[in-house]
Amino acid sequence: MKTCLVVDDSKVIRKVARHILETLEFDVREAADGREALDACLADAPDVILLDWNMPVMSGMDFLRALKEAGLPQRPKVVFCTTENGMAYIRAAIEAGADEYVMKPFDRETLESKLQIVGVA
Ligand SMILES: [Mg+2]
Repeated sequence: MKTCLVVDDSKVIRKVARHILETLEFDVREAADGREALDACLADAPDVILLDWNMPVMSGMDFLRALKEAGLPQRPKVVFCTTENGMAYIRAAIEAGADEYVMKPFDRETLESKLQIVGVA
């Protein structure tokens, strides 16, 4: 079973994402900010991370930088979730280490296609 870490400060979004991912047969874990996510990755790296951008404590961008510095033997794939669709903004995220992005709110089909693009679904 593939593992997905859902990182979002919104409990509602985590719940929605968890539900979708479980129907796609992922083992789901959750983190409420980048710091929690980093700790979770260091303890046991997931196959893929669904990453919110705006979060307290540690943002999605800072998390990506920290993940890169952590130098995990196998880096998880990262799909970042955004409400903004500016290309400069998306490019910055990809440069920081994200593999793909998905616009919020997302549905099952959209998320599944993004997970296929990064090679985990
Ligand atoms: Mg947020």
